[in-house]
Amino acid sequence: MLAALAFAGTVRPDGAPSATPVATDSVLAQVDWSQAGGETVEFLSRLLQAKSTNPPGNETLAISVVAEKLRAEGIDSEVIEFAPGRASLVARLEGAGSDKPLCLLSHVDVVPAEAERWSVDPYSGVVKDGFVWGRGALDMKGMTAVEVMTLVTLKRLGTPLSRDVVLLAVADEEVDGRGIDAVIAQWDEIGCSHVVNEGGLGLENLIFDGQTFHAISVAEKGAVWLKMIASGAPGHGSTPVPGRAPEHLALALQKLAERKDVVVWSDAHLETFRRAGRGGGGMKGMILSSPALTKLLAKNSLLSMPPMRATLTNTVNVTGFFGGEQPNVVPSEVGAILDCRILPGFMPEDIVRELIALVDDPAVRFEILSASTGNESPWDDPFFDALARRAVEGEDGAVAGPVRSPGYTDSMALRPLGARAYGYVPFVIDGELLGTMHGDDERVPVAEVHAGLRRLAAAVLDVSLARPEGPMGSPRPAAPR
Ligand SMILES: [Zn+2]
Repeated sequence: MLAALAFAGTVRPDGAPSATPVATDSVLAQVDWSQAGGETVEFLSRLLQAKSTNPPGNETLAISVVAEKLRAEGIDSEVIEFAPGRASLVARLEGAGSDKPLCLLSHVDVVPAEAERWSVDPYSGVVKDGFVWGRGALDMKGMTAVEVMTLVTLKRLGTPLSRDVVLLAVADEEVDGRGIDAVIAQWDEIGCSHVVNEGGLGLENLIFDGQTFHAISVAEKGAVWLKMIASGAPGHGSTPVPGRAPEHLALALQKLAERKDVVVWSDAHLETFRRAGRGGGGMKGMILSSPALTKLLAKNSLLSMPPMRATLTNTVNVTGFFGGEQPNVVPSEVGAILDCRILPGFMPEDIVRELIALVDDPAVRFEILSASTGNESPWDDPFFDALARRAVEGEDGAVAGPVRSPGYTDSMALRPLGARAYGYVPFVIDGELLGTMHGDDERVPVAEVHAGLRRLAAAVLDVSLARPEGPMGSPRPAAPR
């Protein structure tokens, strides 16, 4: 039946064809979206009731809920248990293999909740006042539910696919990343070219009032965690002597506080500002729609927004102190804990070298606790385009664009394996709801669970729908017929 559908695909420079909405929409029209959305809400409720708080994890509770749902649809899944009660899951819908697999990734562990501060039981999954409530509703069981239902919807449609669509529901993202490690150990079999995972989402009034901006994360910063240790001769607290360790630390901290921001403009930022600016209008819109004017005139106002500053610069954040417990003892060593985040393209030693030069004091040294480099996926890509196009479909004035995330996710581990990873949870929320992630009363609008399923399923189908064929691996020419 599909062979009869009009195919108006385009062949991208990288040779990967992408179906256009012309082909996909005929398939999507066969879905009862109201029913599928309702089923996603119900499934999300069950997932939220599986208490997979990390630590300790107990993710098998949530993984069993996913496996059971898939089994009922005739989709096999492999559960990889890497510790008692802790597991990740891989499930696959097979396609023709003419494109490499596409992975739908999420984590099923959640951070703890302070139940007494919530207005509902954080593990109730209750649907009330137009929201699904529970720890993980946004971060990120809501996405797990949408991804599982995307797989289920494709399976029910029975639509021939050009590629495998693989579901990866993993444990332990919030603490040690052992869940994604278990999946990576099988990467030879998974080997996907594209991944969608957490990262950005649709945010109301992000850059312009009244404009919803769908942020699709294409890059994540590396994290360099350091101890900054000052040393000096110990002594009695009663008698101040210059040059003791606490004084060196205080002076070093002063220098860190005076550290100047160095903006590293990325193509992703400038493209995002350009798209938002064109839709936003006014003087601000005019400035942001021009990369040259943005660099010249918008720099300071962008740097005044902490999340924006964090994506434009390498940051150094003092997050703790150690040493010197006793008031009357001057210790020989005191120190601070630094959380430094470096943009893609920088190495951990770059920031350490910068700090040594900035502090410029031989009595202060730096020890690396852990270090990773950031990475980035290109966004000139059919799947990125499909996510962006489906994100804003039917929404007046909404804009989608590529962003860099200040934090990191499991995607960081997959880009070096050759996957293009995009961070996009397909829900539109406002600043208040954003604050419930890792906070109190985490919840997702029921309407957004419905819309999110449609956004994601459509984007996945756009790049996975079987094409009327030439030989495997040699895409047909682009001519519509
Ligand atoms: Zn998360």
